Amino acid sequence: MTIESINPTTGEVLARYEEMAPAAAAKIVDEAHEALLDWRRVPYPERAGLMRKAAEILRDNALDYARLMANEMGKPVRDGVAEAEKCAVACEFYADNAERFLAPEPIATEAANSFVTFNPLGVVLAVMPWNFPFWQVFRFAAPGVMAGNAAVLKHASNVPGCALAIEAIFREAGFPKNLFRTLMVSSRQVEAIIEHPLVKAVTLTGSGPAGRAVASKAGAMLKKTVLELGGSDPYLVLDDADLELAAAVSAKGRLVNSGQSCIAAKRFIVLDKVRREFEELFVKRMSVVRMGNPLNPETEIGPQARHDLRDALHRQVEASISMGANSLLGGVVPNDRGAFYPPTVLTDVRKGMPAYDEELFGPVAAIIPVKDEEAAIAVANDSVFGLGSAVITRDLGRGERIATEKIESGCVFVNEAVRSDLRLPFGGIKESGYGRELSTYGIKEFVNIKTVYIA
Ligand code: NDP
Repeated sequence: MTIESINPTTGEVLARYEEMAPAAAAKIVDEAHEALLDWRRVPYPERAGLMRKAAEILRDNALDYARLMANEMGKPVRDGVAEAEKCAVACEFYADNAERFLAPEPIATEAANSFVTFNPLGVVLAVMPWNFPFWQVFRFAAPGVMAGNAAVLKHASNVPGCALAIEAIFREAGFPKNLFRTLMVSSRQVEAIIEHPLVKAVTLTGSGPAGRAVASKAGAMLKKTVLELGGSDPYLVLDDADLELAAAVSAKGRLVNSGQSCIAAKRFIVLDKVRREFEELFVKRMSVVRMGNPLNPETEIGPQARHDLRDALHRQVEASISMGANSLLGGVVPNDRGAFYPPTVLTDVRKGMPAYDEELFGPVAAIIPVKDEEAAIAVANDSVFGLGSAVITRDLGRGERIATEKIESGCVFVNEAVRSDLRLPFGGIKESGYGRELSTYGIKEFVNIKTVYIA
C-alpha cells in the first residue's frame, strides 16, 4: 500500500510513500529500544541541551514547516508558523523543567529512607492526528523523551511529510540516531506494533473509534495508554455576559485551526435573555474571517484537511437543518476544487440533532438556547464528551463556581477561549479520553512511579 499526501486546496497528490513492511516497522522498534538503553542514563542537562537544539531548528525552519502543513492539511501558514514556535517553546519548557518535575520525592515513613523515583517506561508508540501535525507530536515527545523514553510515531496518513520532518528535527538536533523514529505505516499495522514486546505504552490523539481500537489492543496486552479524543466543548453565555466579549471569544474558539480542533468551541449554550443580541454579534464576527489559500499570509481559514472530512461535516449540517435547526450563516459547500467549508452558524439546535449530539470538526457553530443557568449547565453536561468548556459572565464568582462545581470536563475557562498551555494539564473525561498531557502531570504519564523503601 502507498501512503499519499494530497493537497486539500488543489486535490493534487504531493507525494507517495511506500508503506513499511511489518518486519521493517518491528526493526525500528528494536532500534529505538537499543537507543534508549544509553539515553536513559544521559544526565538531564545533556538531554536538555539537545531539546534546546530541537527548539532552535523548529524556530529557524518555522516557515518551511508551516508551508508543509499548509500543503498537506490546509493549515493557514501563519497558524503553522505559530504552531512550530509553540513546539519550540514546549521543547524549552521541558528542557528547563523535566529534571525538577521528575526529581525524587521523599516521603516520610518509619523507614530509614523512603521516596518515589521516576524511571522511563521504554519505547512509547504515538498514534497522532493531522490537525496539529507538529504540536500534537511535540507535546507528547518533548516530555516523553526528556523523561528518558524513546518514541515511535505512527502519524496520520495524510501528513507523511510532517512525520518525516519531525523525525529529521530529532536527528539534526543530535539525539541518538533511533531515539525518535517515524513508522510509515497505515493504521492496519498499529495492532501488531502494540503487540511488539518492546513497546511499553501508547499515546493516541484522534477520534473515538481510533481510541477504542488502540485502547482495546493495549488493554489486552496490559500496556499503558493515554487517550486524547474528541470534544464538543460547550461555551455558556450567561445573562450577565459582556456580549461583545462573548462573541469574540466564541468566534475565536470555534474557528481555531479552521474549526478542526478537539478543544474548539462547538456548542454555544445561550440564555434566552441575551440570545438574539449574541446571535447578531457572533454572526457578524463569524462572517468577516478570510477563507482562502492557506499559503496566503492573510488567510485565516484554509480548506478542511480532507475532502471526505468536509463532506461528513456538511452531512451533519444538512441533517441538523432537516431536523429543525436554523442556519444563520454559511452551510453551503463552495464551488471550488478545494475542501473548503465556510464559517457556519446554526441556531435552535436541539437534542437528537447531529449538531447537538456529535462532534462538529469544522467551522460550524451550534447555538442551543436555554432558559436559565441551571438549564445551561444541564445541556453543557449532556454530552458524551468532556474535554474543555467555557463560561462567559461578568460575575467572576459565578463563573468560578460553575467552573469548579458544575461542569464535567477536563478544563473550564472563564471569559476566555479554551487553549492548551504548557504549564497546565490538558486532557478529558468521559469519551474525550483519559490521562493528561503537558505540565508536570503530562511528563508523569510515561514513567514508572517507583517506590523505594530502605528499612
Ligand atoms: P482518526 O482518529 O481516524 O485518526 C487519528 C490517528 O489514528 C491517525 O494516525 C490514524 O491513522 C489513526 N487510526 C485511525 N484508526 C485507527 C485504528 N483503528 N487503529 C489504530 N490507529 C488508527 O481521525 P480522522 O482523521 O479519521 O478524523 C475523523 C474524526 O476524528 C474527526 O472528524 C474528528 O472528529 C476526530 N479527530 C479528533 C482529533 C483530536 O484532536 N482529538 C484529531 C483528528 C481527528 P490513519 O490516518 O492512517 O487512519
